[in-house]
Amino acid sequence: MNKNYDIVPNEEGTNKKVVLLTFDDGPKEADMINSLIDTLDKHQAKAIFFVNGYRVKEHPELLKLIHDRGGILGNHSWDHIVLKDKSYSEVKKQIENVQTIVKQVTSESPVFFRPPHGAGGDVGKKIAAENGLLYMTWSVGSLDWEMKEKEQGKTDTLIKNVTDQLHSGSNILMHELPWTVEALDKLLTTLEGKGYTFVDPRSIELKMR
Ligand SMILES: [Zn+2]
Repeated sequence: MNKNYDIVPNEEGTNKKVVLLTFDDGPKEADMINSLIDTLDKHQAKAIFFVNGYRVKEHPELLKLIHDRGGILGNHSWDHIVLKDKSYSEVKKQIENVQTIVKQVTSESPVFFRPPHGAGGDVGKKIAAENGLLYMTWSVGSLDWEMKEKEQGKTDTLIKNVTDQLHSGSNILMHELPWTVEALDKLLTTLEGKGYTFVDPRSIELKMR
C-alpha cells in the first residue's frame, strides 16, 4: 500500500490493475452480510469488513458470520467517532477495545485499521502502529453513504461513482447498506470487464511504502 492508500504490487511485472474492496460500519444484519459474501464468492473476491466495537458487542454472532465465511475483519474503532481531536488514552481505548472483542469472538486480531470519517489524526496513526495495525483511509469513495432509501437508480449511481475515480490499486470504500448489497454483483462485473482483479487483503504487506 502506498501513501495514497492505493494497493501497488511489490514485484515488477505483476498485474497493477487491482482493486481492494472494503465494507465499513457493520456488522448490522445477517441477510446483508450473507448476500455481500455470496456475491464476493461468485466473483472469487475477498474484502475487508471494517467493524465498529459497539455493533460487535450487540451482535457478536454477526462478526463470527463474517469471519466464518471468509471475510477479513478490520478495526473501525469502537464508537465511530472522530478520533483526531481526542486524547491519547481515549483513542487507545477506541482502538484496542475492538482488537480485544474481535479476538474474543473469532480468536484472531484485526491487522487493518480505518479511522471513522477518515480522520484518525497523528494519534490514531500512532496507536494503530503500536497495535501492529496497517492504517488506511481509502482512495475511491462509492458515496453509498450519501444515498437515500427512496432515491432511484442507486446501482448505476454507485457504479458511476466508482468508475469515475477508478485507477490501478483503487482502495474502494463501501458500506454495509441495502443498496450496496444490491449493486455489488453489477459493480464487480463492471470492474472485471475493465480488466481489474480483486486484491486478497491477506496478501497486503502490513507497512506503508
Ligand atoms: Zn465508517
